[in-house]
Amino acid sequence: MLPRLSDIPAPASLHAEFLSELRLRGFEGDLAPGYGDRVVSATDNSIYQLLPQAIAFPRTTEDLVRIARVAAEERFKGLVFAPRGGGTGTNGQSLTGGLVVDVSRHMNRILEINTEERWVRVQAGVVKDQLNAALAEHGLFFPPELSTSNRATIGGMISTDACGQGSCLYGKTSDHVLELTTVLLDGAVWTSGPLEDEALRPVQRRTDLVGAVHRLVDTIQREQAGLIASHFPKLNRCLTGYDLAHIRDAQGRFNLNSILCGSEGTLAFLAEAKLNVVPIPKHAALVNVRYGSFDAALRDAQELIRFGAASIETVDSKVLGLAQDDVIWDSVRSYFPEDNGERATGVNLVEFVGDTEAAVEEPLARITAALNEYGQVRGRRGFTVARGEVDVNAIWDMRKKSVGLLGNMQGDARPIPFVEDTAVPPENLADYIAEFRATLDARGLAYGMFGHVDAGVLHVRPAINMKDKARERLIRDVTEDVVRITQKYGGLLWGEHGKGVRSEFSPRFFGPLYPTLQSIKAAFDPGNQLNPGKLAAPEDGELLRIDGLPTRGQLDRTIPPPVRAAYDEALHCNGNGACFTWDPDEAMCPSYKATRDRRHSPKGRASLTREWLRQLAALGFDPAAEAAALRCRPGWRTYRERLRNTLARRRGEPDFSHIVKDAMDGCLACKSCTGQCPIKVDVPTFRAKFLELYYSRYTRPRRDYLVGALESMLPPIGKMRSAYNLWLGSPPGRAMMRALGLVHTPKLSPINMRRELAHRGIADATPEALSALSAEERARSVVLVQDAFTSWYETQVVLAVLDLMQALGFRPFVAPFRPNGKPLHVHGFLGAFTRAATRNARMLQALAAAGVELVGVGTSMTLTYRSEYGMLPKADRPPPVLLVQEWLARHQDAIPRALRPGGEYALLPHCSERSLAVSSLRDWQAAFAAAGASLRVLPSGCCGMAGTYGHEAEHRDTSEKIYAMSWGPLVAKCAGDGRLLATGYSCRSQVKLIDGKMLPHPAHALLTCLRGG
Ligand SMILES: Cc1cc2nc3c(=O)[nH]c(=O)nc-3n(C[C@H](O)[C@H](O)[C@H](O)COP(=O)(O)OP(=O)(O)OC[C@H]3O[C@@H](n4cnc5c(N)ncnc54)[C@H](O)[C@@H]3O)c2cc1C
Ligand code: SF4
Ligand code: SF4
Repeated sequence: MLPRLSDIPAPASLHAEFLSELRLRGFEGDLAPGYGDRVVSATDNSIYQLLPQAIAFPRTTEDLVRIARVAAEERFKGLVFAPRGGGTGTNGQSLTGGLVVDVSRHMNRILEINTEERWVRVQAGVVKDQLNAALAEHGLFFPPELSTSNRATIGGMISTDACGQGSCLYGKTSDHVLELTTVLLDGAVWTSGPLEDEALRPVQRRTDLVGAVHRLVDTIQREQAGLIASHFPKLNRCLTGYDLAHIRDAQGRFNLNSILCGSEGTLAFLAEAKLNVVPIPKHAALVNVRYGSFDAALRDAQELIRFGAASIETVDSKVLGLAQDDVIWDSVRSYFPEDNGERATGVNLVEFVGDTEAAVEEPLARITAALNEYGQVRGRRGFTVARGEVDVNAIWDMRKKSVGLLGNMQGDARPIPFVEDTAVPPENLADYIAEFRATLDARGLAYGMFGHVDAGVLHVRPAINMKDKARERLIRDVTEDVVRITQKYGGLLWGEHGKGVRSEFSPRFFGPLYPTLQSIKAAFDPGNQLNPGKLAAPEDGELLRIDGLPTRGQLDRTIPPPVRAAYDEALHCNGNGACFTWDPDEAMCPSYKATRDRRHSPKGRASLTREWLRQLAALGFDPAAEAAALRCRPGWRTYRERLRNTLARRRGEPDFSHIVKDAMDGCLACKSCTGQCPIKVDVPTFRAKFLELYYSRYTRPRRDYLVGALESMLPPIGKMRSAYNLWLGSPPGRAMMRALGLVHTPKLSPINMRRELAHRGIADATPEALSALSAEERARSVVLVQDAFTSWYETQVVLAVLDLMQALGFRPFVAPFRPNGKPLHVHGFLGAFTRAATRNARMLQALAAAGVELVGVGTSMTLTYRSEYGMLPKADRPPPVLLVQEWLARHQDAIPRALRPGGEYALLPHCSERSLAVSSLRDWQAAFAAAGASLRVLPSGCCGMAGTYGHEAEHRDTSEKIYAMSWGPLVAKCAGDGRLLATGYSCRSQVKLIDGKMLPHPAHALLTCLRGG
């Protein structure tokens, strides 16, 4: 039986006191001292893991002032703080053993947009893409680009002086900062911007921290201008983190923001920013040049730069290869064809932008003429051109996803960031990279590379198994080599992502200016409380060292390898934060978007599961072995013990498993993470494994048994559906469902399917009936695989699919109904699931033996055969079961053209379809096109229903909140004329429930087209 995990460390007493004091002072935000919150905030995208004592989520600038004032009190002088935004830092920037101050949850409002003067005022927790979405309608955007733009905050971007693709044209974040409102450590709120000397003088006379820092920084600029000029490299990326070179701007004005931008949360809390924004270029094109070697791509970039490109990005073969296995490939594949059966080993993406077509077309014509004329010189193999927002953005999205994709390399050695953003003068890049590669090759390390060749910044993540103690040493060895090579080529170790734990190299790069950085740090933060050890340490203090912090690998290695392998879907989360995406029209992750609570995200659930496995390992408990034993043991034997444990839980007996369970409960099992997380962290799979074990110790809610058994119960209930529906709609029926924790339980379809099948002359599929067909007949036959939900709740959809098959000239058979097992899997009845799945797979195997294609109607149930059924032994797995659209795509020639043009339709796909079978969305489009209609697939999030989730009483509110974020507005906008379609049964139920509209299934719409309706 799963043991109780009683090791739930509470925050240190001084931190607990600090939180109480904050509450007393009227702190309005959330304070989270719980172990679950702490574990989830213990990582960023770096290799490190540092458990904070608690997390504060301020709601207002006043809350930040409260934190600063209380922290300044003598008794709390020993406490340290790390401000945090999206938590996407790659070098431990927002990690601390003290208190995390996370502004992303509440301080995320866009305060003002001034289109005339082209600036915006935002709170620090606003996400970059959130800002750009609001600006888009004004034709404006905030240009510094970064791969994490859908979750990185403006506060984080300013604090790391972020930039990326397009930096040569648009500059870095600091180039667009007009004013910053910060809270200094004495509680002063100060808005900094360029100051003429007359304005500076009164500020310098102030007696608070504001006065002190202005006096010091001005003196530094006046007294050390020469030293600074000689030491700061003349690179696009400059030397961020107290940028001494720009204390005076081009007009000679004093600007404290040069020091604050890039200061990585070591000087003050950033509350608000006023930012410069620029017009969105109206035209863009991307030339995608393929090469026979990555070195050729790097060297050719210097040639291509002459054509006046806005940016040049490069990607190597490793990244391209990984992109091919990702959902993203579908949207870009045509731009990266193979050359004589070989994939390119390097690619340059050359972008042209302009406000007029001519501004783009003219340089485009020159570059393409040159590429055509000189053909395959310089290792070039060929090129493609992408035009238009959709295609250009799809390629940039693929490039943005590169680093995440690298994390998806298989095996224990995974690419990790520690030397991932070096910058050298672009003309040195190819030679520099050759040496860089040599040092990695000499150690036999695998790696992928991509980056901004125009700015001389290349992203390199060597693959190292950090769970192997002997390999850990490579962090120091490789870094020392890279520091040496980078300095040799006149570059910087931190070209883009900031310093964080790598600050130990600050003295080496800043040389005689390092004491100046120390004086700045001391002036802003006299008690060394903000992110200590980063950027600059006090005279008697120490900088963090790259091998001085606990790593995730060190903790993970305490989990025995077989257990790690059994929970592979959770272990490899690298914290890149893609699951925190702000975009409501992205499928991942509805539970996070609705709660803004990071425990309720794929990363949160993966982090808690890793900690759970670690704690189990410490007790010598093997969860995989226990799960296997459980599946052979009848549950009733342990009922009394489970009941005792459940009562103890009610009395408040602590168990870390409860913390994990709470996080798992919020998951909709929508499968979006399974397909969309770049690492393919698959929450529904490890959630099911967790629930199975959790309920070996505690009793299950009755509702789980009901839902788990639903598929088996539907055939008998269906025989008396009128009575059942009547009862369900009656007060006692509703009360009973409510008592079980179910709301809005759907009624069964009134259609008698057997009668309808007989009416259509459709026979049952049996191995005998199918094998009796001639080869010709089999080629024109098809087997419809039933699922519980469409067959009993949406019989009309099943009939529409059958009618469609007949309209295409096929003879459909209907497979006997067998429970598919998906509800059992979702609720962690893995033993029962395995049995149901095995039985079902055997039946499907017998039917498939005749060579007739199998087609499933319910999207999510059909995709279960490809996903959850993967846990069956290979021999027991089912044959391919096609989605309706996949089958249609195979038989496009059979689709008769409609009598009259079918017009335009729009589709809201099911989450699992978007994540696990993304290319099948094109199949729908092809089928509609063949029938003379068009189909637009709308970008959309989750509908919030996800099987039973939206029917569970405790989740109903969240379910509706999720619906309101993406589906609600889309349904309101597009559902008026019956041309908005949805593939998922759950999704259609949700729309009907909330908006009272029936969205047709695409099969219905296709039939209507074919019938000329
Ligand atoms: C996959 C991946 C790709 C990346 N690509 C890029 C890229 O293309 N370009 C790039 O520049 N970076 C990139 N990064 C690094 C990272 O995304 C950026 O540094 C980003 O700006 C961090 O923003 P954040 O909101 O996540 O900040 P966090 O990681 O939360 O914090 C970053 C730093 O800012 C400080 N901070 C945050 N908010 C505040 C505040 N309100 N007040 C004071 N200090 C604060 C923190 O203390 C910390 O030191 C990448 C990271 C990943 C994981
Ligand atoms: S779950 Fe996936 S997307 Fe989220 S942080 Fe982990 S690896 Fe990144
Ligand atoms: S299955 Fe859906 S709700 Fe659950 S973690 Fe994954 S994306 Fe989030």
